[in-house]
Parts: sequence; C-alpha cells; structure tokens
Amino acid sequence: VLRIEGVVKRFGEQSVLDGIDLEVAKHEVVVLIGASGSGKSTLLKTINLLEQVDDGRILLTRSTEGSTEGEPHTQDITDPRVDADAIRARIGVVFQHYNLFPHLRVLDNVTLAARKVFRTPRAEAERTGMALLERIGLGDKAREYPDRLSGGQQQRVAIARAIATDPELLLLDEITSALDPQLVGEVLDLVHELKTQGSTILMATHEMSFARRVADRVVYLKDGRIIESGPPAQVFDAPQREETRAFLARVR
Ligand code: ATP
Ligand code: MG
Repeated sequence: VLRIEGVVKRFGEQSVLDGIDLEVAKHEVVVLIGASGSGKSTLLKTINLLEQVDDGRILLTRSTEGSTEGEPHTQDITDPRVDADAIRARIGVVFQHYNLFPHLRVLDNVTLAARKVFRTPRAEAERTGMALLERIGLGDKAREYPDRLSGGQQQRVAIARAIATDPELLLLDEITSALDPQLVGEVLDLVHELKTQGSTILMATHEMSFARRVADRVVYLKDGRIIESGPPAQVFDAPQREETRAFLARVR
C-alpha cells in the first residue's frame, strides 16, 4: 500500500527525517515509537502531503483486490504534479487534537468527505455514517455537536470520519495522548477492531502496551532515523540495538 524510499525532511539545518525507508503492506498495522522530537509526526505529515519532502519519494499503491479496476496502480505522491486533494482522499487521518469541525453535528462531520469529495448523495452518506456511528456505539450522538461529547467519544467520531470513505491507508498520530487515562481504552479498542477488520494502519503512539498488542511491526525512530524495526515481541523483548534498549528502559 505504502512505500517510503529515502525520505529526507529538513527544517533549516536540522534533518528531521534523515533517510527513512519504510513499507506498509495491505492489512498491516505499523506502529512508530520514539522520543518526542524523533520525527514521527513529521513522517506522517509527509505521507499526508502536509509537509514536502526534501529528498526521496513516497509511493502509494492502490490495490485492486475485490475491485474491477484492473491493474494495481502505483503513484509517486511526492511528485509535485500530483493532485494533493485526490491523494488525501485516499488516506484517512486522525491527529491528537482538534479533529472534528465544531460547527458541524457529529453525523455531518462523519459524512462531510463522502458528500463533498466523493459526491455521495446525502441520504446514502448518512446511511453509511449512521451505520458507522452505531458500530462504535455513538448512534445516539449523531445529532449532537462535538463539544457535547467526551474526548474519547470525539476521537472515536474522528476515527469514524477518517474511515467513512474507506481509505486505503489510515494514519493515526498520538490519538490518545490528549485524553484522560480512563478514556484511552475505548479509543484503542476501536483501533484494535479496525485492525481485526483488515484496515491498513500507520500510527505513532506513546502507548507501548497498545503497540505491543496491536502492531504487526514496531518501528523505533530516533533523530529522524529508523534504528530498529520488527515484530513487537522482538523489538520490545529482545531489541537488537542498544539505543532501542535505552529508549524502552526510559519509557517503561
Ligand atoms: P512527539 O512525540 O513529541 O509528537 P515527534 O516524534 O512527532 O514528537 P516531530 O513533531 O515530527 O516529532 O518533530 C521532529 C522535529 O522536527 C522536532 O525537533 C521539531 O522541533 C521539528 N519540527 C517539526 N515541525 C517543524 C516545523 N514546522 N518547523 C520547524 N521544525 C519543526
Ligand atoms: Mg508527534
């Protein structure tokens, strides 16, 4: 689905991403861990085209599994000629804060992209949106404004909105770090459910226990470089690199 090749991103003198190579396969859940400032958010932003890369490229491949559209189609999304909105329409994103439009009701938040970007008729978008809200246990909040929901409920709506148009890839950046501890579980449970249903996810998190539970692969980032990458049992229990060991000792 996603292939990142030699991506470099500089802010002034600092190389925030210093040659990142990373692939995410269909149905795979890849979790980025690393200290604050290691480049996790910047990497996710380059994929969503919120930041331009200074070197390297990012390829997004549309799978044809279950469709009739023919050959798999790979696109270099870092090509400056690319239609950024069309790319973003294929990627669902949830950030730490401020995900919902405060002036739109919950259901309108969830259906907005389908209606505006994909031109889905309102009735159909609302049927899909309601089904999604029911599934995450928030059907009764459809007509509320976001500020009437708890932080955990808002993040679950944000996730529902991100998946409402069936994106090929879901990017999640510290989606629980602004939440009260007792609300974290419900959001992480939803991510776990998406994994079970076959979503392809690249996420940054500080929740190591969750990373262990949900990740197919854990990637440890330090100073814009991938230090280590592997299945959670390996990275957490038998890290190959001293730097990984030192990081884990600090966060545990
Ligand atoms: P955290 O765990 O705190 O979210 P992170 O791993 O997501 O950290 P980034 O937000 O990617 O880290 O930041 C990586 C580095 O890039 C930091 O040193 C940060 O100060 C710098 N940085 C990020 N965005 C910008 C920007 N727009 N301009 C200048 N420097 C930036
Ligand atoms: Mg970050």
